[in-house]
Amino acid sequence: MPGDAGPAGPADATVVPRFAGPATFARLPTAEAVPRWDIAVVGIPFDGGTTYRPGARFGPAAVRQGSRLLRPYNPAVGALPFELAQVVDAGDIACTPFGPEEAVAQIEAAAEALLAGGGRVMAIGGDHTVALPLLRATSARHGPLALVHFDAHLDTWDVYFGQRFTHGSPFRRAWEEGLLSRDHSTHVGLRGPLYSSTDLIDDAGMGFAQITADDVAELGGAATAARVLERIGDAPLYVSVDIDVLDPAHAPGTGTPEAGGLTSRELLSLVRALAPAHIVGADVVEVSPAYDHAEITAIAAAHVIYELLTAMALGTT
Ligand code: MN
Ligand code: MN
Repeated sequence: MPGDAGPAGPADATVVPRFAGPATFARLPTAEAVPRWDIAVVGIPFDGGTTYRPGARFGPAAVRQGSRLLRPYNPAVGALPFELAQVVDAGDIACTPFGPEEAVAQIEAAAEALLAGGGRVMAIGGDHTVALPLLRATSARHGPLALVHFDAHLDTWDVYFGQRFTHGSPFRRAWEEGLLSRDHSTHVGLRGPLYSSTDLIDDAGMGFAQITADDVAELGGAATAARVLERIGDAPLYVSVDIDVLDPAHAPGTGTPEAGGLTSRELLSLVRALAPAHIVGADVVEVSPAYDHAEITAIAAAHVIYELLTAMALGTT
């Protein structure tokens, strides 16, 4: 880009059609192709913390494929996110498929290395286990974080089969480790059967607010977003999106589907509404393409990431 100070954007779809060209997210440049970057999309193909359907290790590749049709201009907010910030695809974090504890350490080290340059990370899972090392690395730079967690599930359970690092427990570990700012975090989209009524009581004891999928339907998008934003306050925000927050009609390709979820339109508007917050990191996890149909889940995840990238890019101006 000699003489061009602006960010390098996606491959030009008027020259290279979207079904061709680089297999990066939204056909963005790789991290190696630019001198510096603001936001890196990175895949974390780990699903060794899965309790039911496996396969989220193939999520990053599927979401990148589902992102090919994304276009540069976001009309919902009137912005060109890839011109506001240098967004790149940093490839995948390599970690062992054997042993969640070792994988968590490897992911944390790789995330720390990415964040060392001062940019932000937009991660593609992988199962929800990967949120813990991402929160560790992000909190190490920004202090205790507010968490907005879109999910059918609480993910604050303790252990499964004696294992502390699973996709059902990242936010209990994060709370125990002091990574989260008390009373600034919210789960959105909760539903489905639990093990016990104490699940909700234990979770509230860790300082989480709980907004169910039924609450979203009753409140509507604007009131839901207002409630979430008020709770975040001035805290640095980490956004974690388990794609199973969507109804299985909108996201069949996931590990632990629950009936009665959000529509993709509801989720996209809620994510878009987070733009006023100071988003310091985000992930979209639990896309398991073997259970997907016609790329429904992968395309929904790609659009959620596009809205997250837009909200993060708006925060750089
Ligand atoms: Mn879930
Ligand atoms: Mn989850």
